[in-house]
Amino acid sequence: VIDVVVFDGDDTLWHSEHLFVDAHARFADVLAPYVDDRDHLERAVEVVERRNLGLFGYGAKGFTLSLIETAIELSGGQIRGNEVQTILELGKALLDHPVELLDGVDEVTSTLAGRRLALLTKGDLLHQESKIARSGLAERFERVEIVSEKDDTTFSRLLAALAVPPERVLMVGNSVRSDVVPARASGAHAAVIPYRYLAAIERIDEPDPATLGYHVLGSMREVPGLLADLDLSSTR
Ligand SMILES: [Mg+2]
Repeated sequence: VIDVVVFDGDDTLWHSEHLFVDAHARFADVLAPYVDDRDHLERAVEVVERRNLGLFGYGAKGFTLSLIETAIELSGGQIRGNEVQTILELGKALLDHPVELLDGVDEVTSTLAGRRLALLTKGDLLHQESKIARSGLAERFERVEIVSEKDDTTFSRLLAALAVPPERVLMVGNSVRSDVVPARASGAHAAVIPYRYLAAIERIDEPDPATLGYHVLGSMREVPGLLADLDLSSTR
């Protein structure tokens, strides 16, 4: 029987990555006078983001700084102040964009009667707090954790705080790397609901769902059915 459902935030409860896809496109426009190869630009941004991850962590602020750093590198230091200003503004737009829930999230999180719900999300602390507040979902979660990295340690710590054995937990997220792998390593059940975009830094050679033992769902609306199946299989 599943007692606790842990949800990821970005691209699981609310839309996020499409805003970054849009920011990449606007960044390419700013850099057009210096770089004409979009693929080269995308690869350069990813290299800088990965290089900075240990210093900046995930989130829109670190992303914006990495865009500025990429702009300086690829323009050979020629990027102008007003162009840096445009990059800063597209970063700020990411931070105060309205929160839009994904289809089915409001209904499903309000109807999981008898289950305890938790939220585990990563990124800029202030930005994540603001999105949770604006989502209107905050009071549905018994526990909300905002972490710098989702790994076995942070996931196990969350289960300890909830005082629940891992086999009674289902993690629901959009990233195999950040949501499924840590949950499975801790012994919890896991389901991935792929979002139409996945950030470059989240991409991995995805382990086979059968081998790693996780579920792939088409939408949030399939979560109640999966929970019913998991309840049944644990009592058989
Ligand atoms: Mg996510």
